[in-house]
Amino acid sequence: MEESLVTEVRRRVPGDVTPLLPLAPWTSVRVGGAAELSVRPRTAEGLVALLHLARQEGLPVTVIGGGANTLVGDGGIPGFTVRLPADLFPESVEPLEGGGKRLTFCAGAAIVKLVNGMKAHGLVGAEFLAGIPGTLGGAVTMNAGTKMGECLSAVEAVEVATSDGLAWLPRADIPYRYRHTELPKGAVVTRVRFALRPGDRAESQARMDADLGYRKRTQPLSQPNFGSVFTNPSGHHAGALIERVGLKGHTLGRAQISTLHANWIVNLGGATARDVTGLIALMQERVAGETGVQMTPEVKRVGRFD
Ligand SMILES: Cc1cc2nc3c(=O)[nH]c(=O)nc-3n(C[C@H](O)[C@H](O)[C@H](O)COP(=O)(O)OP(=O)(O)OC[C@H]3O[C@@H](n4cnc5c(N)ncnc54)[C@H](O)[C@@H]3O)c2cc1C
Repeated sequence: MEESLVTEVRRRVPGDVTPLLPLAPWTSVRVGGAAELSVRPRTAEGLVALLHLARQEGLPVTVIGGGANTLVGDGGIPGFTVRLPADLFPESVEPLEGGGKRLTFCAGAAIVKLVNGMKAHGLVGAEFLAGIPGTLGGAVTMNAGTKMGECLSAVEAVEVATSDGLAWLPRADIPYRYRHTELPKGAVVTRVRFALRPGDRAESQARMDADLGYRKRTQPLSQPNFGSVFTNPSGHHAGALIERVGLKGHTLGRAQISTLHANWIVNLGGATARDVTGLIALMQERVAGETGVQMTPEVKRVGRFD
């Protein structure tokens, strides 16, 4: 990127502006190239100014939250890569009728902040997010969840930044479905407001403990990964399909289809995005060929892959 543009970003956007920042350490699978320009804005106004500049210059903007569902290409990410700090806005708590509470967090805050806030205020209703790594902005964008529930069900409103400024969107105006939320094009989630109700804390804790125990038994949590590779096709379990076609444990380069859970890919150390995408293509082809079921990746690919 031209030095004059980097200087312009530094002038307009308070925060960390780093050319050629290696992104592998900022993703949970530890794979991929560098950001052409990484920007960690310190203010919401700075973020809006950055989006404005990107539009002016015709440059792409990519957002990375916790990087727990992101695969960065080996060729890195062109344009601006935004990483939101966890404290762009202060947290807030307001009472709701009936004893519930409205909890508002910065989108860059970790998902566990919501889970801890729920516990601290004697609330229930977001158990399904316990144990999911990443940020609340990522959880909204992915509509993250489990069989127990999905993120948007607990959301009251989402604040987004575009090149025009900041705006709150009530949940009723946001279409969402299984592992997908339809946000305005180019919008960056800046704050998330949850409405939670009071309830049986012991039962809520027991559900979270059971889920965390299940994760520890069935998921390769000690190896770098990005969670499930594919969403579950309607009426099927992606992991069972991949196991059925004999790919569990299959290795390509330094990436492996986990021996513990076939719908997970792990980085054995030094894996490239090419290794990972090669495995994803193999899983899709073999499952489609032998069972007729098409599998859609859940992981988001960003940047250059060739
Ligand atoms: C061990 C492990 C277990 C997991 N278990 C689950 C699970 O049970 N259920 C589940 O649903 N997921 C699971 N995941 C996947 C992942 O944790 C979730 O998708 C999570 O919501 C990703 O959040 P993130 O901040 O890391 O998102 P990222 O990976 O950083 O980003 C994901 C997508 O969201 C976009 N994005 C992120 N932040 C913003 C923002 N502020 N504004 C606009 N766009 C944004 C990114 O551009 C990208 O397209 C798991 C992952 C791991 C590694």
